[in-house]
Amino acid sequence: MKEDMTFELTKIFTFDMAHRLSFHEGKCWNLHGHTYRLEVTVSGGIDKNGMVIDFNDMNIIIMDHAVNILDHATAIYQNDDLLMKAFPKELKHVIFPYEVTAENLCLWIHERLTKAGLTLKKITIWETANSKAVYTK
Ligand SMILES: [Zn+2]
Repeated sequence: MKEDMTFELTKIFTFDMAHRLSFHEGKCWNLHGHTYRLEVTVSGGIDKNGMVIDFNDMNIIIMDHAVNILDHATAIYQNDDLLMKAFPKELKHVIFPYEVTAENLCLWIHERLTKAGLTLKKITIWETANSKAVYTK
């Protein structure tokens, strides 16, 4: 094996999440939900067994640090006074430091998965079947 070989591995997930965009002047101002599709791509060389990372280990990290936290939650921007005041805290929710756009969702997931030890190449969030945001670093 050549040492300069680089591979990309991708795992794909879906999760259901509610959000709203507090700055939006259209329908996205309202609380609504999406079935998001998440694609996580890592990159790296392979070990003696021919693996960048075990797909199962990758799955566990992404489920624990992103998907299970976001699935069936309401994502709330911390400066969204309306939701911060009115949202029942008994219901599953996640507070974000920025508006919960597809772009910022990529950033949030990227940060968490990097802290969890993944060497990320790309995070893709499909907000609908024909709208996606891609964060590459
Ligand atoms: Zn939306």
